[in-house]
Parts: sequence; structure tokens; C-alpha cells
Amino acid sequence: MPAPAAARQAARKPIALSVEDALSRTQLSPYWLDNPAQPPAEPKLTRDTAADLLIVGGGFTGLWAAVQAKEQMPELDVVVIEAGRVAHGASGRAGGIISTSVMHGLPNAVRVFPNDIAQLEEFGHRNLDGFEETLKRYGIDADIEWNGEMTVAVDPDHVEHLRADYDLHKQHGHDVVLLGEQATREQLDSPLFAGALWSRNRSGIVHPAKLAWGLKRAALTLGVRLYEHTALMSVKDEGETVFVKTRDGSVRAPRVLFGSGTAKVGIADINRRVLQVRDHVLATEPLTEEQLARIGWKNRQGIYDTRTQLNYFRLTKNNNIIFGGLVSYHFDGDPNPARDGKPETYYRLAEAFYKTFPQLCDVRFSHAWGGPIDYCSRGSVFAKRYLGGKGVFVAGYTGFGVAASRFGAFMGLNILFGRNSPEQALDIAKLSPTYIPPEPVRWLAAKVTFHAFDGADAEGGWKRAWINGIKAMGFPM
Ligand SMILES: Cc1cc2nc3c(=O)[nH]c(=O)nc-3n(C[C@H](O)[C@H](O)[C@H](O)COP(=O)(O)OP(=O)(O)OC[C@H]3O[C@@H](n4cnc5c(N)ncnc54)[C@H](O)[C@@H]3O)c2cc1C
Repeated sequence: MPAPAAARQAARKPIALSVEDALSRTQLSPYWLDNPAQPPAEPKLTRDTAADLLIVGGGFTGLWAAVQAKEQMPELDVVVIEAGRVAHGASGRAGGIISTSVMHGLPNAVRVFPNDIAQLEEFGHRNLDGFEETLKRYGIDADIEWNGEMTVAVDPDHVEHLRADYDLHKQHGHDVVLLGEQATREQLDSPLFAGALWSRNRSGIVHPAKLAWGLKRAALTLGVRLYEHTALMSVKDEGETVFVKTRDGSVRAPRVLFGSGTAKVGIADINRRVLQVRDHVLATEPLTEEQLARIGWKNRQGIYDTRTQLNYFRLTKNNNIIFGGLVSYHFDGDPNPARDGKPETYYRLAEAFYKTFPQLCDVRFSHAWGGPIDYCSRGSVFAKRYLGGKGVFVAGYTGFGVAASRFGAFMGLNILFGRNSPEQALDIAKLSPTYIPPEPVRWLAAKVTFHAFDGADAEGGWKRAWINGIKAMGFPM
């Protein structure tokens, strides 16, 4: 005898896990790096050597710089030194949502360089062309899906902001659609979503570690000398050349590109302009077809929500959900990843996940990790000369560097080699982000700001006023 409809419904209802249970088997390491495709580390540098170009850092910036430098000047002897392993910095810890913009999105471009929007948009498009062509040229399989990025309003009041963003994107020729509540929930179902802006303009998702490993292989194929587990210990301007000491060797080069993110590399000015915020991420276990059907997501977009304490999420090739976005700051930007291990961080993130997707109350988390965000007042990449012009530092992506790092490396190389390329005429290449106050003001301001993030949307009051004050001082939130 068939079960009555109510009984069938009850039988199908998933059994909710407690957050403790859902996190009980979670390993504290990036999902992306837990992959047999990870190549073996290259040997460390154990002697004194010289090169035409030294690149410090084996993340996206350093790897894109190495590949582009060798493609542009095959005769160049290029050395890359990486303190740990390729992709173990921000690059292998990212959400992996690809944006067309090199400016952390069009609204940020309007905020920072309102007179150069057309050119900045063009750089973004050309950057993605180059990005795609490079992956094809070297056969890099990084699980890319070009399904766009979608910003979802988690409060009916936020729909107005999306409408303004929609108009802006339309004005600049983007393929965007504004979705009402029902249409949004047909794309991806959450009781929180009140509307969405879906930008289908050449954005999507990528496996960030596979991308970095593919770029590493391309660089090696082109003849780049890469040394892993080789940290820069000190840097000295020798006039004609720069001398970089590593633990067991040294590199002397007339040109150095620093793709070292927020790490301290002996140039104090860098850390006055960039600060390290830690961002945190959870990966679920792979969803079954039935679990995936509960939320829809057939178009598999990369998603951001409109919370002040923003969450972003996407699917992997195996249908794990990557769910990120809970920021913290450690005094003096302490980069020790052990600081990312606080259980309460992931409890809070898991709670945000279940609030967003209550239908997935039976889903567990396999991985949890944190990573460095190179925050700067521009909210997007800059390249600045040091060491009498023999060194150029490239960073500042503020959480949006998966594709923009290719452009950052391109702009950095153009400055380093004195080329007259179009971006060099614009403020993006000529200006640098403003100073961020030093410690302990940094730490205090970060603590108050992140505390304000937590209640700003629901409570408003002083929290909203504080965030608006920081924004008015020119710092992106
Ligand atoms: C949790 C998280 C989520 C993110 N999500 C997204 C996203 O969805 N989309 C997006 O576009 N961006 C995202 N980002 C940002 C993106 O990952 C970064 O902008 C990008 O990876 C920066 O690349 P990078 O090469 O400049 O820095 P890194 O990848 O950090 O590389 C810097 C490298 O320099 C090395 N290094 C440091 N000091 C030294 C030294 N002294 N000697 C030698 N080597 C040194 C480090 O070991 C490191 O490998 C995210 C970042 C994080 C942390």
C-alpha cells in the first residue's frame, strides 16, 4: 500500500546535524590543496646564483609574471623563489570566483578612478582574453566554468543597491540581468534571497590550485628556474643590481618583481600601504544529486551576498559547496596560518551556511581553512617601484586577484622594463594606495570594524555609522 503523501514528505525530510557534528570530521587545510594533482615541490636554492629577472613569490602574481616575462623575452634568465610551496599562499586558498574586472568590480573602479572607466574595462576584457589563451596554449585544465557571477540581496532593502549596480553595468555594456525574488530562487534557492544581479559577462569559477599548478608547469616548460622552500631573508640595493639573500643561497639580479602578497620582504613602505586580513572558508562534502536538487543552482554561478560581513559561495566540479567569508585581523598582520584554527570561526561560518541553505541541514563539512587578503585603500591591484626602480611590488587585490593577478603581473613587468604600454599613462599605474595607520591603531580599528560588521546590517546604529566613517576616509568595506 503506498504511503500517504504526508508520510512520504516526512520520510524525505533530511535529519538536521548539529554544527558540532557537521564539523566533527573537518580537516583544517584547504580543500583545493588536498588533491593528487599537486606536483612535487621544486628543489630549494642552495647556492649563489644570478638572473636577469628575480621574482619573489610563487602565487598567481609571481607565476603570471614568470610566464609573461618568458613569453615576451625568451632569452631572459628568470628565477622564481617561493618561501613555501606554489599555491600554498592566497592563490591556493581562494574561493576561485573569476571576475572580468581588474578593479575589484565596476563600482570600485568608479569609486577610485572615475575618469578611466572605459580603459579599465578594456584592460579587464583583454586580461581575460589573455587568461583564456594562456590556459589553452599550455593545456591547463583548471575546471573552469564560465557561468557568470551573481550578487544576491539578503535583505529586501539591498535590492535597490543591486538596481543601481545593474544600471551601471548596463551603461558599460555588460550582459547582466536583474532577478526578482522568485527568479533568484529559481537560480539558487535560499529563503534569504530577495533578488539578484547576475553578471554573465565572462566570469565564472576555477579550481585555483590547479590553475597555479598549471602556471607552474608552463613556467618550467618555458625555462624558468623555480626554487620552492626558498624564502627571501634580506634584500640589498647594490646600485646596478639587487642582492637577495635566501637561507642557503642568494640571487643577484638587475630587476626584481615582488609578488609576495602581504609578507614582510624588508621594504617597510609596502606594509604601510597593504595590510593582511585573514578570510575563512568551509568546503562541504560533495552533495548528492538529491541534495543539489534541493537548492537548484543548475547554472552553477559564483555567488556573493550583500551582507556587510560578506559571504561568497560556489560549487566544485564534484559538487562540494565552497562557502567563505568571515574576516579577522591578527596584530601586525601575523601570517601564521595556525592562527586560523579557532573553532568558533568555523562554527559561525557553518551557522551562516545553514541559515542560507536550511535545506542542506544534513550536509557535513570536509575542509576548513583561512588565507591572507592583501587589503589596500584602492581595493584593487597596484604596482609600485622600489630599490631605485630595480624592484616593483605588485599586490593589493583585496580579495579579487584570481584573474586580476595576470593584469597585475603585466602592469608590474611593464613598469620594471620601462615599457610604454597604455595602462602606464593612467593613474592605475602612476598612483599608489594611501597609507594605512600603523600598529596599534591598525589592530584597534580592525577589531572595532569587524565587530561592527557583525551587527551592522541588523542593528545599524553606531556600527553602521562606524563603517560609513571608515568608508568616508577612503577605505573600501
Ligand atoms: C580565503 C580567500 C578567498 C579568496 N577568494 C577569491 C575569489 O573567489 N576570487 C578572487 O578573484 N580572489 C579571491 N581571493 C584573492 C586571491 O586569492 C588573491 O588575490 C591572489 O591569490 C593573490 O595572489 P598573489 O600571488 O599576489 O599572492 P599569494 O598567492 O599569497 O602569493 C604570494 C607568495 O609569496 C610567497 N612569499 C611571501 N614571502 C616570501 C619571501 N620572503 N620569499 C619568497 N616567497 C615569499 C608566499 O609564500 C606566497 O606563496 C581570495 C583570497 C583568500 C585568502
